[in-house]
Amino acid sequence: MTLPKFLDLWQSTLNWSPSEQQQAQFQALLDRLCILNAGVNLTRITSPEAFWEKHLWDSLWGIQLWLDGPPQTLRAIDIGTGGGFPGIPAAIALPTWQVTLLDSTRKKIACLETLCQALSLSSAHPVCDRAETLGHRKGDRAAYDVALIRAVGPVSSCAEYALPFLKIGGTAILYRGQWTLEEERVLQRALPQLGGELAELRRATTPLTRAQRHGLYLHKVEPTPATFPRKVGLPSQHPLGL
Ligand code: SAM
Repeated sequence: MTLPKFLDLWQSTLNWSPSEQQQAQFQALLDRLCILNAGVNLTRITSPEAFWEKHLWDSLWGIQLWLDGPPQTLRAIDIGTGGGFPGIPAAIALPTWQVTLLDSTRKKIACLETLCQALSLSSAHPVCDRAETLGHRKGDRAAYDVALIRAVGPVSSCAEYALPFLKIGGTAILYRGQWTLEEERVLQRALPQLGGELAELRRATTPLTRAQRHGLYLHKVEPTPATFPRKVGLPSQHPLGL
């Protein structure tokens, strides 16, 4: 299945477009994902256009600020990466980043190891663990510049997973579809407990199917208290701020 290039769409929506090499890596990602998906459920989205929009474009619009700017050597973590989104497209598009791909499902991480090898993507590092555990480990806690998190549950659980990983001054990007005022209230109650603040809310419409997207940009302004993230399961069962 040939992945569309849509170079004009990349350019007009994100002011960026993939090089030949990056396009080849995106194509290899789709090819390998389709093969691996037969054994492990990594994604439901495998038609080339849907893959382009929902996995590639959607992963990269959240990090447009960095695609647009000068190259920076940053350390990023994708929490609950599943089939590698948004972390793998981020690692392909921003080769100066080191990207940890975190997921608690061992089979998915085994697939991502195969994928990263096949794509010669040495800047992406699959890790099998829970965010609640890794977020307390020396070398990972307060160690990242950027945390990405898409489709991993209630918004304040995402904030509780992401903020402990960040250095002061770091940014967490929460990828959301719809966004409500009630969710914003819950998030605003949770953030002071975690050392974060809401810096920006960005809206976008996906270029092919015109679906809504919201990106929440959280800044870490103070150290996260040692009690967060709470024990495994608690952030999702009892989200902060409710
Ligand atoms: N981020 C990917 C995407 O947008 O396509 C995958 C989203 S999938 C719905 C959620 C993933 O988060 C699953 O693969 C699950 O194993 C992982 N996950 C959920 N809670 C987690 C936690 N506490 N720590 C690490 N991974 C977690």
